[in-house]
Parts: sequence; C-alpha cells; structure tokens
Amino acid sequence: MHLIVAEKNISARRIAQILSEGKKVTEHKDGGVSTYSFGDTTTVGLRGHVVEIDFEPGYKNWRSEQYTPRSLINAKTIKIPTEKKIVSLLQKLARQADRVTIATDFDTEGELIGKEAYELVRAVNKNVGIDRARFSAITPGELKHAFSHTTELDFALAAAGEARQSIDLMWGASLTRFISLAARRGGQNILSVGRVQSPTLGMIVDREKEIEAFVPEKYWQVSCTTEKSAETIEARHTRGRFHEKAAAVAARDRTKAPLVVTDVRTGTKQDRAPSPFDTTAYIVAASRLGLSAANAMRIAEDLYMNGFISYPRTDNTVYPDSLDLDAILKTIRNSSFQQDVEWVMTHRRAVPTRGKKSSTDHPPIHPTGGATREALGEDGFRIYELVLRRFLATLSPDAQWKTLKILFSAGGEEYTTTGGQLLETGWHRVYPFSEAKEVVLPAFETGEHLPVKKVTLDEKETQPPARYTQSKLIQRMEELGLGTKSTRHEVIAKLVSRKYVEGNPLRPTLVGRVVTESLEQHADTITRPGMTQTLEAHMQQIKESKRTREDVVRESREMLHHAFDQLEANEQVIGEDIRGKTAEEMNLGKCPACGGTLAIKHLRGNTQFIGCSRYPDCSFNIGLPGAQWGFAVRTDEVCEQHHLNYVRLVRKGARPWDIGCPLCHHIKSNLESLAEIPSMDESLAKNIQSHHIYSVAELAHSTPEVLAKRLELDSGRASLLVHEAGRVLERLRKRSECRKFMRDNLIPRKGRSYSKILSALKESGISELSGLARVDIATLMRAGIGENEAEQLLTRAKTIYHGQVLREIGIPAVSLKKYLAAGIIDPEAFCVHSPGALSDLTGMSVSTVQRHVELVCRHLSKPVPKKISKTQMERGKKELLAIKGLGEPVLEILLRADITDADTLLSADAAKLAARSGIPEQKILDYQKRVRKRKETAVIQL
Ligand SMILES: [Zn+2]
Ligand SMILES: [Zn+2]
Repeated sequence: MHLIVAEKNISARRIAQILSEGKKVTEHKDGGVSTYSFGDTTTVGLRGHVVEIDFEPGYKNWRSEQYTPRSLINAKTIKIPTEKKIVSLLQKLARQADRVTIATDFDTEGELIGKEAYELVRAVNKNVGIDRARFSAITPGELKHAFSHTTELDFALAAAGEARQSIDLMWGASLTRFISLAARRGGQNILSVGRVQSPTLGMIVDREKEIEAFVPEKYWQVSCTTEKSAETIEARHTRGRFHEKAAAVAARDRTKAPLVVTDVRTGTKQDRAPSPFDTTAYIVAASRLGLSAANAMRIAEDLYMNGFISYPRTDNTVYPDSLDLDAILKTIRNSSFQQDVEWVMTHRRAVPTRGKKSSTDHPPIHPTGGATREALGEDGFRIYELVLRRFLATLSPDAQWKTLKILFSAGGEEYTTTGGQLLETGWHRVYPFSEAKEVVLPAFETGEHLPVKKVTLDEKETQPPARYTQSKLIQRMEELGLGTKSTRHEVIAKLVSRKYVEGNPLRPTLVGRVVTESLEQHADTITRPGMTQTLEAHMQQIKESKRTREDVVRESREMLHHAFDQLEANEQVIGEDIRGKTAEEMNLGKCPACGGTLAIKHLRGNTQFIGCSRYPDCSFNIGLPGAQWGFAVRTDEVCEQHHLNYVRLVRKGARPWDIGCPLCHHIKSNLESLAEIPSMDESLAKNIQSHHIYSVAELAHSTPEVLAKRLELDSGRASLLVHEAGRVLERLRKRSECRKFMRDNLIPRKGRSYSKILSALKESGISELSGLARVDIATLMRAGIGENEAEQLLTRAKTIYHGQVLREIGIPAVSLKKYLAAGIIDPEAFCVHSPGALSDLTGMSVSTVQRHVELVCRHLSKPVPKKISKTQMERGKKELLAIKGLGEPVLEILLRADITDADTLLSADAAKLAARSGIPEQKILDYQKRVRKRKETAVIQL
C-alpha cells in the first residue's frame, strides 16, 4: 500500500480526490479518524502537530524546591502524543505500507510536522521507503507534479523547526514560572513571558510611552478660498506650518484680493501596479477589509486547503518562472470575475510586477481555482476576491495620472493648490481596494485674477505617533525579524488573550505594562528584539546545515542562564513591584454603601468576589461565579447608573462571559429571591435598595433593631422581615445544596444539561434534597436520568438527606456511621426496630442505642419502642439459638425483623414475618412449633 500523510484531514481528502483521477475514493473511519483510499493508495490527515514536546516528568509542580524555574532551562524534553487516535491509526497503516509519502505543508513548520510523522512511521516499520512531496497549492497540476517528483525529507529544515520549538518551550516555561511565582500569581492569573511575545509587547509598551511623553506643539496654517467657474477652490499657504502665531496672523492680514495665478504646472505621474502578495502584505490588505490578522490567516488557510488559493504563508513577492500565469488566468476566468479576467488577458503588461523579496519556497499568494460566493460564504469570498484581484492587478498595466499644480499670489503671500486626474485607469480598474481619488480642477491661466472669498487661520497641534494596528505591528515585527510569517499573528492573538494588550489599535493593559517594565529593568534581553533576531539568524544557519540544532539550543541556554542570574538576584523587588502596581487593575469604583473602593478579589482555589476596601468596617460585597467559569477582570465600560466598571469572566478557549455592571447584575440576580419574602412589596423593595441592601442574606443576617433603624421601619415589621428572610435564605440554601448534589452525583454526559434535568424535577415539585430522597425512580427517569443511575442517585440522596436529619436530631457523626454501615439510615427505622436489634446490628451498647431511639421517635412524634436491657437481650438471643435448626445467620435476620426472644417469635404472625424477613413461612411455623413444644415440656417438668 502507498500511504500518503497530509497535514490535515481536509487536505488528505482533496489529495485523494485529485490523485484518484476520477476513480472511486472510499472513506473509512477508524476511531473517528478518516482515511481515503483508491486503488492501492490511502491518504490520511494529521491535525498539524500530533505530538508535542514537554519536559520530562517531575517538572509539573511549580513550587518544587528541587525543580526551580531555572532548572527548566536544562531540563530534558520528551515528545508526547497529543492526538492519540491519529498517532495509533498512522502507525497501524504504516505497518502495512510499502511506500510512505509525507505531503505536509511546504515550510519549516510543515517539514517538522512531516518529520514527526516520519519518526512515528519509522518506529513501527524500519524498512519502508519514505519520501516527501512538496507543493504550494492543492490543485491537480501542482499535485501531479509534486507526487511524480518526490524528494527526501529536509532534515535540516525540520531541525530548525525543532530548535525553535525547544527554545520557545524553555524560555516561555522558565520565565513564565519565575515571574508568576515572584508576583505570587497562579492558576488563571499567571503572567506569561515568551521569546517572541515579550519583545512584541515591549514594542507596544514603548509606543504607549512615546505617546504619553509626547508634548503637543501648536502650529498655525493659513489658507484662502477662491472661486472659478462656480466652483469653490481652496489654496494653502506655501509656508505650510507657521510656528509663531504672529507670523501666521501677519500672513493672513497681508492676503488681499486679487488672487493672481502666477504659474500653472502640469505633469504626468506613473502609478505602478502593486506587487504580489506575501503574507504580511496580504494581512495588511485584509485588515483594511476589517479582518483581524488571525481571522485573515484562518480564512486564507481554509481557501488553500480547498484549492482556491495557493499556500498563504510565504515571504516571496516575485512570481517564479515556473508559475504558469496563463493557466491561472484561464482557470479563474471560470469565476464571478470573468469580465475583469478577460480585460487583463487583453491588456496584460509585458512583465508582472515584482516586490523586493524573492525566495524559493513558495510563490506569492495567488488564486488557484475558480469560485463563487455561494461556494465560499461571505468572508471566504471577500478574501478570495482580494487575492484574485491582487493577482489581476500585478498583471495589469500601470495607471497614469495627469497632475496639476497651480501657484497663486495675493498681497505678496503665496498659495498653492493641486489636482490629479486619472489618464489611464490601468490596474485600478481591477483592484478597487486601494483608493484612487481624483481631484479635478478647472482650467487656469497664468496672470488670471481671481477673487479672494475667505482667508482662514487654523490653529492646530502636532499629533503623537499612532498606536499600532494589528497589521502595522505585523509589518514592524517583520522588519525587526520577530517571529515568522506563520507565527506573528498568533503572537498578537496570544497577547490579547493573556490580557496584556487590548483594543485595535493596540494598547497595553496595566499588567502588560508592569510586567514589561519590570523585565526591562532587570533583564532586558527578554524584552528587546535583539535576542530573537539572533535566533532567527541561527535558524537560517541550521536550515543551511551550517550549524547544528544542539549548538544553537546550547547558546540559547547560556543566554537564558545569564538572564536568570539577573532575575534571581532581584526576585524580591520584581515580585513586589508587579504586585503593587497591578492591584489597581482590579478596582471597579466607589462602594455604594460607604464610598470606599470596590475591587475584584481572587482567593486561593476558585473563589472570587467583589469586596470593599474598608472591610471589615464595611461588609458590602458581591458574589461572583467561581473562577472555573472564568477569571474575573475589569473592562473599560462603566455603568451609567452606578459608575462602576463592568466585569468580565475570561476563560482560555471559551467565549468571555460578560457580567456587565456588577451591581446591576447583583440586583437582577437577587430580584427573584427577594420577591419570595412574603412581606416584600414594591415600596419596601425600593427602600432596601436605596439603603444598599440587595440580597436576602443581608436581610437575614441583620438584627431587627439595626434594620429598623436603617430602613426606618417599626420594630414589628423589621423583625418579621428578618424572620421571613431567614426562612427564604434557608430555602435558597437547600435548593443550592440540591443543585450541587446533582452536579456532584450525575456523571457529565454529552447532550444532557444539569439545568434541563433540574428544571424537569422542579416541575415535579422537587427542588430540595428532602424531596429528592422521597421521589420515585419513575420521576427521575422522566427527568432524563437512566434507570440504574436513578437508583444510585436515590440511594445517595436518601443517605445524605436522612443523615442530615439524624444529625439535626442529635445523633453524633460517629454513631451515624455505624448505623449507616448496618443499613439503618431512615429515621423511621429507629421507631420500628427494637433497640436491642439495633444494638446488635451496630455493635453499640443497648443504652446508647436506646438514647438515640428516644431522640428520633420523639422528634417524629412516634411511640418509643420498649426498652430491653442487655441481659434481656442476651437471654433472648440464647433462647432463639436454642431452637433446633436456628443458627447465627437466621438469628441476625430475625433480629432485623424485631424478633428478640422466643416469646416475640411465638407471638409473630408467620405470614407477615415471612414477608418482612424473607424467611419461608413454613420454616417460621416450624420454629414456632418447636418453641411451643419446649414450653410445654418445661411446664410439664415444673
Ligand atoms: Zn464599602
Ligand atoms: Zn449598574
């Protein structure tokens, strides 16, 4: 079998479709992973990397004394499968293969993914031939050529990728741990540091500081308005910016009619067609369409996988000779852009445009197939159109502009105005994405006199440098050699998700800034681009086999050790610095109750809430969902009513949960429970809110005296309110206990939600554990719980609920355990069984059991069973055991059924006892007969 390994499932499918040339392709699924077979060939797709590198076991514990953050620098790494099903399927197929072709993407990352597949194949099949197919587009022409001209895997290229992987892991993990531990942050709250990430953040922070340090300067501009052929024309003073107001005012005042045309200069300007797209230029163009860098790349990759455009990760801006431009034009003629394609075919420039960078790996991004809006969807089609039109533009003639510059003089002051008109539309015809704005001026003649309609003096200010937009930042990263075409957009996305930067244009958050400044101060190699640039150069040397991976990694280790020397010496200072400066980011605004500062507080574990800075004097607080639902952070939005910052819960890999104004949220979520208080009416509700009481708990925990004073209520009403609130609170507590019970005891399963089950139970009137303990299995099953599970759930519910009741009645926990072990949990059982039997079953003394029985029965208002002494109990047991054929096992069953001596056995109704105990009726009758006989004998003996 010929096994072809593609980078993703979708490309495996397309490769099979194309290479099968119309033969039937069969799809098989094995453990959820698809393979595509035709003839003797099978294709399978990876999911990018199917293994990842991680440290050897032992490094998981962040606080380990032995494995400090610095120890991660020299830690050994291992490869572990991240996609186990794919790995096992790949190896299963590899055992049967007699040829394996690696067909992953054609770049460093793809080569490394290919090498990972190579190693997995080799591990199970020592001798199979493994070759490599390289292609830049998943189209019939490219694929056929690639598969008939396969080569060897490029191990040098893969080694460069591996070096980057280990260096990134080592820098990221060791520094992230160091900084997070120093700042005492853990869990969702860690401070990540990265080899590319930190210098990129450094740039954004630097720009912000430039903006802050910028001192605007005033300047003045003078312009005048005239009129020609009923058109208003504005002319600017030729001095441009006046730095002194007096000079500008003088120029304005000297400007007197007439405005004399002193010169008319016409010219033409060549407007060159744009050069082909590399990744960066593409991202910049896509951002003008409103797409973020990460989105633009995701869509482009999707289009590539489906054969509509070529590989979108490329540094090349020159079409290689081997690229058949005619064939591409013919292919894309078959699209919604037929007219434009045909126009380009007839007006094509002699040589396509070219950019500055030429590399051999991939051609610039270009279309590879015809597509329609229906096939691609809205965003996909917009990107496809952008790539296609850019391609057309690079083959189109330059545009020509007619330029016009008019010079004027008025009272000795000189003015000018310019115009431009497209003479030849050229490439603008097919590429509307860069604007061509024409300014048409009427004809002027030298010496012509014109009126002065208005002279204007504008006061302006110099502007600070602009913040980076995502696409500007990517351009700048490229110039500085930070990251690669494949990773730059991911680095930015990471900075956003780590809450280091926000908005577009990007600005640093307080944490982002504090971390950067702290690192800069103590180990600036981490935040400066130099180190990363060096590494990129080393990477190139590995690719060219001029240096080994080990060598480069060793040098990087040394650099990192050096940084740690500085960091460890300043650990205390760094930690305090970060902690002190970041506290502010959690402040939300004024406490409504006391005017102190409300802030988000994160405690150990997952507890988070909003509390007041004047605690314990002010106990105002607002509960928040646990951090497992998202780490609570502040956003920029502010509630108009309460003047508090909004709160958002952020969780990796999940949509953020917007709580909004915490107080609005608090009020809303307490509305329903407050309404359960019987004496709550509209005016009382308003009253408590205006006194900053928002929850049932606050009312329940008040004393009537304090409440009466605070709310200006009479004391009767206040005590009623406290009493009622206490009862509602108890009900709420029980409901939440029931919800927790369900969450703890129902196994999470796809497609079923706790809230659905809970609301179904609520409809059957069950929202507390007491109800659940008395429910029948059928009701549970109707709520969507399986039979076996329902039985288990019921037993658990009974155990917990009855246990609670018994504890409340006063049974100590130790005893409770013994009852539970003997299968006695229902309080009713205490009033049914005889204390003697209970004592025997639990091993506790009769007097202890007797005390418990009295407590329970009195609580349930039931008669207390007759007391039996220990001696009586022992005598009874002896009597029973004396009966022929009645041994210990039967004795225990009888005790459980409250048969404690010969007399109770004799007086029992045999049929009822049989039903109660499970002992056959006939046997009971036999026992009874024997007892009677013995009694008679005893009487006779007397
Ligand atoms: Zn307060
Ligand atoms: Zn609010």
